[in-house]
Amino acid sequence: MNRTQDADDRMAASDTRARAAEEILRRQRFVITSHVRPDGDAIGSQLAMAFALRHLGKDVRIVNRDPAPPPLLAFPGTADIEVADRVEDPGDAVIVMESGDLSRTGVAGLDRGFVINIDHHVGNAMYGAVNWFDVSAAACGEMVFDLVRELRVPLTYEIAVHIYVAILTDTGSFHYSSISPRTFDICRECVEAGVSPPAVARSIFDSNNLGRLKLFGAVLSRMELDDSGRLASLYVDHQIAADCGGTYEDTEGLINLPLTVKDIQAVVFFKESAADDWRISLRSKGDIDVNAVARQFGGGGHKNASGCSATGRFADLKTLFQVKILEQIELAGRR
Ligand code: 5GP
Repeated sequence: MNRTQDADDRMAASDTRARAAEEILRRQRFVITSHVRPDGDAIGSQLAMAFALRHLGKDVRIVNRDPAPPPLLAFPGTADIEVADRVEDPGDAVIVMESGDLSRTGVAGLDRGFVINIDHHVGNAMYGAVNWFDVSAAACGEMVFDLVRELRVPLTYEIAVHIYVAILTDTGSFHYSSISPRTFDICRECVEAGVSPPAVARSIFDSNNLGRLKLFGAVLSRMELDDSGRLASLYVDHQIAADCGGTYEDTEGLINLPLTVKDIQAVVFFKESAADDWRISLRSKGDIDVNAVARQFGGGGHKNASGCSATGRFADLKTLFQVKILEQIELAGRR
């Protein structure tokens, strides 16, 4: 992206943010939703938004298809999240966060409402009545921070802690190339609002059960490396998880561990959801674009962190993904 286009994009994004704020201010009843299997950015962005809207006296429901990951339950407001795959009453507006298209929410009935689409992923389908997207944001939480400002809501502790959680988790603990000076400006303001980075980090990363630790061991002991030692492949199925006394939720964050090895440049993690049905997560370092691979399978995400679903025999899928990721590693090396 050249500098002029970047400036134009930012201008367009701030116009749409102002429009989103206007539409919010003139409405009363909101449903806030996000994508299936919500992560820290989804939950943090939703809750920060909900606290800001309630500060303005609005009525807010948060509805997600799947529950919040257990480590996030320690943060304020999570008990209010409803888990449902349909909304009968979309209120005066539905705020959809972090979802490239409406179907990614896994929640039916949203299209009957006035949809405000807020996202930072490349390739958003622009399905809302208002479509505010900003691919320069390292987390959707950064966009919520800007919107909170636009709405003239003070940055309370509750809002700040969720924005911080969103940024901390969606940057892979400040590892990904999406981070900008603005990321730290926002985090600084969150800390000034009372957020304690060590307390948040302990809550999210150091509150595991023993099953999770055993599961990490079991999955890592099955890790495969390609011949060049640059690509790690991980695999888990329900049997492995049950044997360890853990669940798939307990594998959250595991994919990042192989990247702590200097030579490993990318990781693919296969999770069997049903026979021959797979959820696949991809991670990479620096310029290696795993999103380009996820998108070939109908998925998405970011350059360094993406995901998709696929159907097929594990051995075939593994080979296919390995070839495609190694292509991206080669491409990045030539840039
Ligand atoms: P994870 O691997 O942790 O599930 O997801 C990593 C990133 O990729 C997140 O930003 C997530 O929203 C995105 N992502 C994961 N799976 C999908 C998918 O199936 N479709 C799309 N569009 N994005 C995905």
